[in-house]
Amino acid sequence: MTAVAARILDGATVAAALRASVQPDVEQFTAATGRPPALGIVLVGEDPGSEIYVKTKVKAGGESGLKVDLIRLAATATLDELLAVVDRLNRSPEHDGILVQSPLPPAMGRDAAQRVFDAVDPAKDVDGFHPVNVGRLTQGRPNLAPCTPSGIIAMLDHFGIAIAGARAAVIGRSDIVGKPMALLLLRRDATVTICHSKTAAIAAVSAEADIVVVAIGRAGFVTPDFIKPGATVIDVGTNRITDRAAAAAILGASSPRLDAFDRRGSLVLGDVHPAVAEVAGALSPVPGGVGPLTIAMLLKNTLAAAEARTAAV
Ligand code: NAP
Repeated sequence: MTAVAARILDGATVAAALRASVQPDVEQFTAATGRPPALGIVLVGEDPGSEIYVKTKVKAGGESGLKVDLIRLAATATLDELLAVVDRLNRSPEHDGILVQSPLPPAMGRDAAQRVFDAVDPAKDVDGFHPVNVGRLTQGRPNLAPCTPSGIIAMLDHFGIAIAGARAAVIGRSDIVGKPMALLLLRRDATVTICHSKTAAIAAVSAEADIVVVAIGRAGFVTPDFIKPGATVIDVGTNRITDRAAAAAILGASSPRLDAFDRRGSLVLGDVHPAVAEVAGALSPVPGGVGPLTIAMLLKNTLAAAEARTAAV
């Protein structure tokens, strides 16, 4: 058994604090307008992961006093049918936020997600994926920023981890995590390097950073040689592992987490190898790190969208 050096950054604590800070404003909005802030979530098909994410979002929204409507479409729905639902939510006077759960069924086509992001009214785009909101983020004046990266900024702030002047490496350049993460860190005056699948000497590049955010979708990919001793490491990866040998290869044959695998037949592992905890100064784990923050930021964005729409009337 190896010693763990890193301070563990508990996302649930930060998420609870964020949700508690949103609560009075939700109550105030509801009292002032006679209706709660409302979020429309569209779920297409029955992807098991999406079912869990959506259920959690509906529950968290309800607990925070928001109205959350779940609109389901069959896995066989066409892109046009989905776009019609988005259009209805865009026009709906009572819906402040719209979220279309990813992934969409592959039969909708390769550019389906982008077409849906493009179709959502930017004022209701609580995911922050519409080009208008991406452009505002690029210009350093976001109003609705993507939930996972903005949750990570909230986590760094909560634990007093300095961003200004820090060197940051973001591993992964997706539109939903990597790129907006890099822009939010830049906006907070970090010096940011974005790494991806073609980055040469990626471990050495990452090892120069004070803050490393990893979002690539490869279990245990980031090993201790990627990490400068004492650096802060944020693991975004959520990889469901169904092969016990693969889980044991990453966790070690005697890891108690394998008991959970034996009970459930699968395990969610991050992109960061457990041995990184011996090198990092602080580590956001999977599960229990970034996940709860994404949902807290969704509630915050829905409230922000509701307030902005009301102010605009
Ligand atoms: P994505 O769209 O699949 O993109 C993956 C990125 O990782 C790409 O930029 C890719 O580089 C890069 N990459 C892949 N293999 C690599 C390698 N060997 N070396 C360096 N870079 C590599 O990813 P995503 O949607 O951002 O998701 C990433 C992970 O985060 C997934 O596990 C996802 O489930 C998880 N996630 C979690 C949350 C949460 O709330 N906890 C939210 C969103 C996503 P190229 O661009 O060069 O191909």
